[in-house]
Parts: sequence; C-alpha cells; structure tokens
Amino acid sequence: MALSSETQKRLLAGLAPGHWALDPETRLTYAYDATRRERLPDIVVFPGSVQEVQHVLAVADETRTPVYPRGGGTGLSGGAIPVAGGIVLTLERMNRILEIDEVNFSVTAEAGVKLDNLRDEVARHGLFFPPDPSSGKVAALGGVLAECAGGLNVVKYGPINRYVMRLLAVLPGGELIHAGSKAPKTVTGYDLRHLLIGSEGTLAVIVEATLALLAYPRYQQSFCAFFSSLEVALEGATRILRAGYRPRSLEFIDSSSFECIRAYKPLQLPEGTAAALLVEEDGHDPDDVGRAVRAIAGVVHKECLEIHLATTPEERAQIWGLRKAISPALYKFARYKINEDICVPRGQLVPAIMGAYQIGREAGLRTVIFGHCGDGNLHVNFMTNDDPDPKAEEAVRKLMQMVVSLGGTLSGEHGIGTAKAPYLGLELSPAEIALQKRLKAAFDPHNILNPGKIFTHVG
Ligand SMILES: Cc1cc2nc3c(=O)[nH]c(=O)nc-3n(C[C@H](O)[C@H](O)[C@H](O)COP(=O)(O)OP(=O)(O)OC[C@H]3O[C@@H](n4cnc5c(N)ncnc54)[C@H](O)[C@@H]3O)c2cc1C
Repeated sequence: MALSSETQKRLLAGLAPGHWALDPETRLTYAYDATRRERLPDIVVFPGSVQEVQHVLAVADETRTPVYPRGGGTGLSGGAIPVAGGIVLTLERMNRILEIDEVNFSVTAEAGVKLDNLRDEVARHGLFFPPDPSSGKVAALGGVLAECAGGLNVVKYGPINRYVMRLLAVLPGGELIHAGSKAPKTVTGYDLRHLLIGSEGTLAVIVEATLALLAYPRYQQSFCAFFSSLEVALEGATRILRAGYRPRSLEFIDSSSFECIRAYKPLQLPEGTAAALLVEEDGHDPDDVGRAVRAIAGVVHKECLEIHLATTPEERAQIWGLRKAISPALYKFARYKINEDICVPRGQLVPAIMGAYQIGREAGLRTVIFGHCGDGNLHVNFMTNDDPDPKAEEAVRKLMQMVVSLGGTLSGEHGIGTAKAPYLGLELSPAEIALQKRLKAAFDPHNILNPGKIFTHVG
C-alpha cells in the first residue's frame, strides 16, 4: 500500500525538518533487519520527541497506515521489517540518558539509546545494568525491551524484565501511557509493564524506560573446560548449579562449533574434545571471585579433559574470543545460517541437542549448536547454501515440534516476529492465541502497529 499524498502531508506537518525521509536510499536502509529479509517502507520517520511519536501514531491510526517501530535493526526474527510497507518509525534520535539515580539505583533513558552506551555510562557511576546481548553496540534499549532480549548473564542475573521499573509508551492513536513506577515494587492494576516487554512492537511504542541497577561487579574471572562428550559436559553444568553456584555465564559449545572456528582461525584443543563449557564469575572482591571460580572448576575438573583458567585479562579475552568466533565462523561452511533460539528445561538439554542433530542429519544439513546452557537456551544453527531451502524449513518445523514435546518454548530470546510465526500454534492453543489477539485488539484496534507479525499464520 503506497502512502497517499494526503497522509504524507499530514505526517510531515507534525515533524521537524530532517525528521523524515522519502528517498529510496534511506527507505532501503530501513527495509532490513538481521534476518536479511526485506520490504521497502513508504517513509522513514525519525522522531526527536515523545510529541512527534504521538503525532505519527495519531495520523497513522486515523489513516490506517502501518507503523513499524525500529531500534537498531539487529532483530533475528523479522520484527522490524515493514512487511506491509507504510511507516518505519526509528527511535534513533531519542537516545538520551535522562537520569542516573545513584540513591535509588536506577537509570532513566530514551528508547533509542544503544544498550552498550547505557551500560557503559552507568558503569562510569559504579553501577551495573546486567542484560548484555552480544548485539548491544547496535541494538537499542527499545528493541531490547520489545524482544525481552537475553544474552550471556541471564543464568546469574535473570532476564531483562527483572530490571524494568517503569515504561513510558505511546499507543496507536497517540495516547501516552506509563506502566510501573520508580518504587521498588508495584502491584497497582494489571502489570502492563511485563505485557509490553517482549511484545515485539505490536502493542505500543516504548519511548522511555526506568531500569533498576546493581552495584558494578568490578572483578571477573573465567575458565573453559573441555570434555570428551557433550553428555559429560552438560552433566557438569548441572552439577555446578546443583552445588549451589550461579556463575555469571555458563555457556556450552559443541564440536561442530569448534570445527567451524578451526576453518576460520587457528585453534588448539585438547585431544578428543567433543564439547566445552565456558564459565565466568564476577563479584566485588577479587579474592572471593578467584575462590569461587576455582571452586566451580573443582566441581567438573575430574570429568573434563582439561581446564583453561584465565588469570589475566588477555587470557580471559582469549577464552571469550572462542565463543565470539563461532557466529562469523559458521559462514565458512555455508552461505546461510538458520539460527534458532530454542529454550528447554535444563534437564532436557541432552535430548534436545541429540534430537536437533538427528533432524539436521535427516535433512542433510550441517548442524552447529552452542548457547546459554545455564538457562536452557540453545542456538541451533542449520547451515544451508539455499534461500529459501525447503529441507531447512522442514527441519525447523521438526525442531519446534520436538522442543514443545520436551516442555520447551519456540524462542528463548529472539521473539516470534515473522520467522517463527508459522510455528506459534505448536506451542499455544487456539484459546490462548485468541486471548492474545484480543489483547492486541485492545491496544491496537485498527491493527496499525507492526502488522504481519506473531499471529500471521494462525486464525
Ligand atoms: C550479532 C547479533 C548478536 C545477537 N545477540 C543476541 C543475544 O545475545 N541475545 C539476544 O536476546 N538477542 C541477540 N540478538 C538479537 C537482537 O540483537 C535482539 O533481539 C535485540 O533485542 C534487538 O534490538 P534492536 O534495537 O536491534 O531491535 P530491532 O531489530 O530494531 O527491533 C526488534 C523488535 O522490537 C520492536 N521495537 C524496536 N524498538 C521499539 C520500541 N521503541 N518500542 C516498541 N517496539 C520496538 C521492533 O518493531 C521489532 O519487532 C543478536 C543479534 C545479532 C545480529
């Protein structure tokens, strides 16, 4: 649907000069997200204030024009792609940190701030915002909240929704609402805060958030433990948790990941390595952190082939370099990766991984698995040279069926968007989907906000 000249005129009337773009180059720049799918929007708007966001949503609602909120465009489920054309509303101009409150341990910021900028700025005040998706240099606060993004720290610090005190958001139609408060606890009415978190830009546009902070843990230590089988590695992860430790990160890497890294850069591993655990602990006292890391390593040292303990920042960077090399290294083996972010109860990790390999083998696809085993969240990558690839699509469907049968969930952190919409009915019943759609209609009766996402394949 092309934007009518009347709608365009009304939109531009409420936006400052330079806060919109109609040229094809800019529109193309905002046609994508990290899924590499694309659809050209009719216009890109760059509001610089809450009032401009309200104006855009008021005009869009009256003229029934689709609006696609956008943060950094790093989403991996197609959430920011303007699948019906219309307006891309990028929050990038609204990137100010408005208040760091050292007494109440909170930060208030506009939705367009880059997550790493926010984390770095609060760290300068000795404060810590734990959520740390690896895309934080580019991903924006609004996008991270809209996806309820995870990352490496969830096992110890929990998901991002634990840290959201108050949200300011604009509804379709232009009304500004707040959800939550700066008080440490809020139980007034329904908890709209937690409904908006993870709502993937389909209910409201988040314009500002107040987030809870912790004291900055200045010391970190890591180790990498190499195992001869993935079962022993994952049993080791369970024993670490059962022994009462909750390390900052507890990551799993499989042998296919190591093969990919080896094709990408030199890599020396203990003979017979089939899997590894990467563990990091942090804290406020270097001796305490050192003791905890040695104790955690002690839980698994008998069963593993070798442990590489990082005692210097360089060694720590080397250990984490392994993990960071996996994503780029995957492309050494195929042009496309289908990266799923399934999540299962921790006790089901071994069947989930074995099942994923089996599904990949049957489809003739190289399967690479790594992820946040401490919170049951695995990145299963099916590698293919074709796009679209019916074999890969069938493999993903089987993977999702298996995950649900194991008591797990389609997405642990990337959201549904368009990528997982075909599988929604595997996890949610018709009644549950109908209830969610009624919620959507209550927020967005004319379906102008991020239409074509989450529910496109059901009912
Ligand atoms: C290299 C790489 C590494 C990644 N690592 C991780 C990781 O470790 N953990 C993880 O969870 N994810 C990860 N991701 C996925 C992605 O970074 C996250 O989903 C992130 O939350 C997206 O933020 P964004 O600002 O880029 O959002 P976008 O892609 O711009 O948008 C994502 C969704 O949020 C909506 N949205 C954006 N801004 C707003 C707003 N202000 N109000 C309402 N809705 C809004 C959009 O409409 C869309 O539905 C990674 C991605 C890449 C490319």
